[in-house]
Amino acid sequence: MSVPVFADDVEILISMEELKARIAVLGEKITRDYFGEPLTVLLILKGSFMFGADLIRAIDLPLSVDFMGLASYGADTESSGVVRITQDLSNPVKDRHVLIVEDIVDTGLTMKYLLENLGSRKPSSVKICSLLEKPARSSYEIEIDYLGFTIPDKFVVGYGLDHAERYRNLPFVGVLTRDCMERR
Ligand code: 5GP
Repeated sequence: MSVPVFADDVEILISMEELKARIAVLGEKITRDYFGEPLTVLLILKGSFMFGADLIRAIDLPLSVDFMGLASYGADTESSGVVRITQDLSNPVKDRHVLIVEDIVDTGLTMKYLLENLGSRKPSSVKICSLLEKPARSSYEIEIDYLGFTIPDKFVVGYGLDHAERYRNLPFVGVLTRDCMERR
């Protein structure tokens, strides 16, 4: 697979083929675990839109999809330490099983905030499916029920993840090269 011209400052970390294979495994496991249960798949915007779109197609169950917008990063590569809701759920999750779909668990701050927030809405259960986790930066103990890949402590882009709103449309997860980070 080649890197698109607009992203010649990105190195592939997880290829399209690897993403596809892992998502198929996650989808099968989720299908088994939630069989016969009322399931809401909650995509966290913006970063998980591409992963979520592929994941729900790998889940062979009737389900609802909802979205929440959360932001802790500005245009920087470091979290601001404050989580904001930029868009709320459109339907109640009371008495439903909620599967949160996140792009990456980094320090765990966003997930901690979200778990507390959802808890007050009385769902039957809440589980987490995250495409990526960066254990080197973990500050809060977050149990990820369905994990795609563990990655090193590098700032990643692509497959929904951005840097200053760029690179979300890459079909793979990549790392910004040193040159490029130094120019910023
Ligand atoms: P946390 O609250 O766990 O520190 O960070 C979670 C959020 O920070 C993720 O949902 C994602 O939006 C952003 N984030 C953390 N690490 C990265 C990264 O390496 N690349 C990008 N693009 N976003 C990241």
